[in-house]
Parts: sequence; C-alpha cells; structure tokens
Amino acid sequence: MEAVKLFAISLFSTALLSFVPVKKKYIVIDAGHGGNDAGVTFDGMTEKEIVLNIAKQIHEINESQEKYEVFLTRAADEYKTLEERTDKINELNPVMVISLHLNGTPEKDTQKQGYELFIQDSGDSKKIADKISQKLGNCSIAERNLHILRESKSPAVLIELGYLNNKKDRTYLSSEQGQKEIAQKFVDFFNEY
Ligand SMILES: [Zn+2]
Repeated sequence: MEAVKLFAISLFSTALLSFVPVKKKYIVIDAGHGGNDAGVTFDGMTEKEIVLNIAKQIHEINESQEKYEVFLTRAADEYKTLEERTDKINELNPVMVISLHLNGTPEKDTQKQGYELFIQDSGDSKKIADKISQKLGNCSIAERNLHILRESKSPAVLIELGYLNNKKDRTYLSSEQGQKEIAQKFVDFFNEY
C-alpha cells in the first residue's frame, strides 16, 4: 500500500513538473512618455506614439524567439511615472533595459540626425550600448544621469532613435518600414546577446 502511494505521488509530481513553463529571462523595453506627456512633437507626430509603435514591434517580432521575454513598461498611450517604470523593472530583474526616445531641437528644422545612446555606468550597460551601436550603425554614446538609468538595478541604456525635426530621420521613423527595421535590429541583437 505504501509503495503504491509513493508511486502515485511520484507520478503526480513528474506530471506537475512537466507543466511548469521554462522561466524565460526578461528584456524590458521602455517606450518613453505617454498620455499627457507627448515628448517631442512635429506636425502632429509625437515621440510617445512613434516609440510605442517601435516597442510593440519589438515585442511582436520577439514573440517567435525562445531566448528572452520582452516586457513593455507601457503597451498603450498611457502615462507612467519614472518611479512606476523602475519599480516594475527592479521587480522583473531583466537582463537589460532599453528606453526608447526621440530627439528634437528648439529650431523648426535641424541638420542634426542619427542615434544617440546614453548610459549611466561603464560596466554591462556600456557593453550593451556598444553592441546596439554596431547593430544600428554609428551611435554616439555618452554618460548621463537619468532616472531610468540610475534607478534600474539591471544594465540600462536610453536611446534617442533620431531627430523628429530632421526631415530624413522623421520620414524614416514615422514609416511602418522604418519602425519594423529598427525593431528587427533590436531583436537580432537580443538573439546574439
Ligand atoms: Zn523622450
């Protein structure tokens, strides 16, 4: 009787174990701004909307990948405080945090264009920034004291994906093809990391 019981228990626990999903490691994508905070704007285009589209594309393209689970700090046009974002990040303890933003200058139009990466420390965040720069091509990397970088316990980078008031950047960033291309490059980078 005792042996049968034990056998039953061990069968039961084996069955249970086989249903426990493999816990994936997280990568957090933080789409900047949201809700009443539009970020940089140009002719009705907003930073909050473009970075959200790219974040969602990253999430979608990554769905078919096994390696990491992409978590979005916001998946809709809603306002989240910086504290809410970093509290969630530190709860998830992700492999890395990538905060998406767009640049702008006070003039109507600017000749400035291209990617700009910010990090807070020169350890793993710097390595991640270097790899993103290789993937996207030619990003400038600088250290800056920003909440999301400072308060995230995981390696974190903030990337300005281009200037909304530069015609070339704006055309690319506001196009579906441009957004998909950027998202794909991030997912390719995750798979190599
Ligand atoms: Zn921003």
